[in-house]
Amino acid sequence: MVVLHYTAMDSARRACDWLCNGASQVSSHYLVGRNGRITQMVREADRAWHAGAGRWGAVSDVNSRSIGIEISNDGASPFPAAQMDALEHLLAGIMHRWSIPPERVIGHSCLAPGRKIDPGPRFDWQRLARRGLAIWPSPREEGPDGTDEAAFRDLAARAGFTADVDHATLLAAVRLRFRPWGQGALSGGDMATLSDIAARFPVDAGRGEA
Ligand SMILES: [Zn+2]
Repeated sequence: MVVLHYTAMDSARRACDWLCNGASQVSSHYLVGRNGRITQMVREADRAWHAGAGRWGAVSDVNSRSIGIEISNDGASPFPAAQMDALEHLLAGIMHRWSIPPERVIGHSCLAPGRKIDPGPRFDWQRLARRGLAIWPSPREEGPDGTDEAAFRDLAARAGFTADVDHATLLAAVRLRFRPWGQGALSGGDMATLSDIAARFPVDAGRGEA
């Protein structure tokens, strides 16, 4: 899979220094600057330390199963067009080389709910989805009957959100990825969004070897 991050730093140069410093205990395969400049720091076949503790689908050691891309962003600013163009180009190549389907391009917040929020609510997943580089729900807001927390958790697990967290944390993680405008208690809109997403995953995706 591919995991997208933001650096939470004000410059790509500082992020690069940090990611290349052994003392930081973090690394990633790529860094995409705000101007679209791409720096490769780890070979794609090698393991980088970008995901940390977490889980997605059947994968509990995400670093061993993923390519990490750090996007230079301070966590509050929009992502410039040049940066998104470069990211799309990079993603298309990685997905082709490793046969990664769009539903396996995820955010750090998807695998580490409650611990990580990057790439954050400003990241344009919809843009990636239009080019087949990620997924985005169909625009439906009417949900199935009921807003049952157990049913929500079931759908979330089918969509890859298998980390062991409480309901509020899970809801926040799902909204951050697929419905960043969502607020308040679990709603029919959340259920509709998630059932649309879950339907794109093979039935056994959360259980079998991924
Ligand atoms: Zn991250």
